[in-house]
Amino acid sequence: ISNSLNNFQYTVWTEFTPLAIKHQAINLGQGFPNFQCPQFVKNALAEAANSNENQYCRPAGVPMLVEEIARVYGAKHNRKIDPMTEVAVCYGASEALLNATMSILNPGDEVIVVDPSFDIYIPQICISGGIPIRVSLVPPNDDVSSWTIDFDKLEAAFTTKTKLFLFNTPNNPIGKVYTKEELEKIGRILEKWPNVGIIADEVYEHVIFDKRVHMSLADVGNLWERSLTLSSAGKLFSVTGWKTGWAVGGPDMIKNMVVSKLWSSFCSNTVCQGAVARSLRIADQEFEGYSNYYEWICKQYEDKRERMKHILYNSNVIKVQPLLAEGGFFLVGKIMNDGDFIPKQYREGATLDFAFCRWLTVEHKITAIPCSVFFSESNSHFGTNFVRFALCKEFSDYDKVEKILIRN
Ligand code: PMP
Ligand code: GLN
Repeated sequence: ISNSLNNFQYTVWTEFTPLAIKHQAINLGQGFPNFQCPQFVKNALAEAANSNENQYCRPAGVPMLVEEIARVYGAKHNRKIDPMTEVAVCYGASEALLNATMSILNPGDEVIVVDPSFDIYIPQICISGGIPIRVSLVPPNDDVSSWTIDFDKLEAAFTTKTKLFLFNTPNNPIGKVYTKEELEKIGRILEKWPNVGIIADEVYEHVIFDKRVHMSLADVGNLWERSLTLSSAGKLFSVTGWKTGWAVGGPDMIKNMVVSKLWSSFCSNTVCQGAVARSLRIADQEFEGYSNYYEWICKQYEDKRERMKHILYNSNVIKVQPLLAEGGFFLVGKIMNDGDFIPKQYREGATLDFAFCRWLTVEHKITAIPCSVFFSESNSHFGTNFVRFALCKEFSDYDKVEKILIRN
């Protein structure tokens, strides 16, 4: 294996998804919805296939889809977005991220990443020749506060070597939704470094709890031109296997990203793009008694967060305190009592979070994800007390989890 991949042979998904299957566990681990996507989304795929949208397409995305994205995100960002120069469609937000880092970084360029961070960021930065500089959020001490940024530390991370700032709201795993004040403070730091590019990963933008508001970093000050804001139809329409995502942002950033796309896959799959374009049109219409699809899907996640919080607060099998989840697909909990309820054999040679997740899968048939994987090695102590439960599963799965974790 190449030197650039040698350090990245392990992923938490390739440990815990097979482990969940092996033990027939309820998989609250990997963040893919296990419920059916809406019928209108399936119909849209059939319609696209029947319309013979089955051949290669324009590298930056099929016209029908980039036009829909420009419409939807033009309204969100309150600006006119040019579908032909300010939108790029990729194989999921994952490929958008890689195309972006490949198109921005030269060997030795530094990338500031706010931890906890989705585990794909660091390998992608390194494969692209960059050096990750990781700044950790600080965990709250209670169950009602958000994780906080140490702005002095963040500011101190910027140097003349910094080429890129990579940022995620709502955050995977902790569900932090950055406030306007926080984004403006970050924006003020970025304004001091005009040559730094910005990737804002906002794939969970549509899952915002308790009437909070999602705000994009790109909309702060004058950051649009040097930013790429990413999102994903996989997350929005519960079709993660379609691997259809996109970036919107400044024309130069998009143009360079598409050059990288030319030499990786040339273009993404046409038929899924046609389906997503049609689905975006329908999503604005009334759905299941809600005024649109967005309201409905958000409510599903909010209800599941309430279910999961209830289970954790009332469990007499595990002692895990749910933290505040302000949005996104996950609820993070803090392992209490130093995990004294986890048998010794699981504790030996493992951090607390890994011990908990292996034990819970094997002995209780429920899979969660250890949070230390979302931190740098030197900051992993911030993660080892925390575990992540997915909210993107069937309601009946939470019924089953409740039966296991709350014993009469
Ligand atoms: N960013 C975050 C924060 C994610 O959780 C995911 C989920 N895999 C992705 C990006 C990748 O999204 P996609 O499935 O569209 O590649
Ligand atoms: N984003 C999802 C998660 O965090 C899926 C990860 C993956 O499949 N690479 O669980």
